[in-house]
Amino acid sequence: MKITHVETYPVRVPLKPVRQMRSSLGQHRVSEFLLVRLGTDAGVEGVGEATTTPNWSGETCWTAQAIIRSVLAPVLLGEDPRQIESLAARMDRVCVGNPFAKAALEMALWDIVGKREGKPLYELLGGPAREKRFRCRFSLGAYPPEKAAQVAAERVAAGFDTIKIKVGADSLDRQRVQAVREAVGPEVTLTIDANGGWSLEQALDILPELLALGVTLVEQPTPRGDDLALRAVRQAVEVPVMADEGCFTLTDARRLIQGECCDLLCVYPGKNAGVLAAAQIATLAQQHQMPCSVGSNLELDVATAAMAHLVVAHPNLQVERFPGDVLGPEYHEFPVVKRPVEIEGPWVSVPQGPGLGVEVDWQQVRQCRPEP
Ligand SMILES: [Mg+2]
Repeated sequence: MKITHVETYPVRVPLKPVRQMRSSLGQHRVSEFLLVRLGTDAGVEGVGEATTTPNWSGETCWTAQAIIRSVLAPVLLGEDPRQIESLAARMDRVCVGNPFAKAALEMALWDIVGKREGKPLYELLGGPAREKRFRCRFSLGAYPPEKAAQVAAERVAAGFDTIKIKVGADSLDRQRVQAVREAVGPEVTLTIDANGGWSLEQALDILPELLALGVTLVEQPTPRGDDLALRAVRQAVEVPVMADEGCFTLTDARRLIQGECCDLLCVYPGKNAGVLAAAQIATLAQQHQMPCSVGSNLELDVATAAMAHLVVAHPNLQVERFPGDVLGPEYHEFPVVKRPVEIEGPWVSVPQGPGLGVEVDWQQVRQCRPEP
């Protein structure tokens, strides 16, 4: 079996007004992502999604399209799609960075292999390590306190028992977390994610107040790359500290683990440049008794499916203790697949069909092309 063509489709899907995201990185109101479609001489097709957000990975749907067309697709054309590990390594050799573009192609390779073998991706990854329906936290934007409280209460009523609050975007963190705590009561688990938006001094200044409100996990308080700041926060607080933006690659993960900079790692296929790379990070962490959770860039259904398969298959994605967010489709106005990933309140079910288990609606995709 050989790869015969690689097609790319920029797609624009607005977020639901009530779900528009606000974080220390800015606003996310519309998703402009890239879908890929790989064809083979066996007639089996694979799909992938580059969840491109320039303020997160430096990629846009247009840069991802260009890098795929001119640099990454030539690596794949004529090759056997079953050679996923070596093809991913070759993509890394010809192109630094661009993890989301690489992940789109890599998940499409998995999709082809799964469809060819008639197996869902989680089976290819070693079989289910947990229930195929798992519980997520709700990721709450850094809204004004009143709105944050209102949305959090509504989400708890919908079944969520963990709310992650975005912080570090303005001077209202304490008021926001307090308003949410008052709205949801003492039983609901609250975590925070600063997306690297605090300096070390700011983090050390505000965290005692937030922990006093019952915050039980601190995600990426300080800027990406500043491992020493992350370690200083870890040493200063009693609750677990999670690295997210600080952990794109296996090398990042090794450095964070060896430096004892955090208590857990956030992994997911897009950020880590592929399903396999994310799994390798989770396995490395497991070897060092460090749990992992899963984070999100507000994916559409294709990348959400890839995340769900990884969560179900990898024993160290400990979403029972540390729920992740695999809820991107729920934030968007409409799906670009024929049968969306099943999401009911906090519960996500991994698709059961072969490969990723999603079927892209190409007609719909062509109708929502962004302006270049
Ligand atoms: Mg995060």
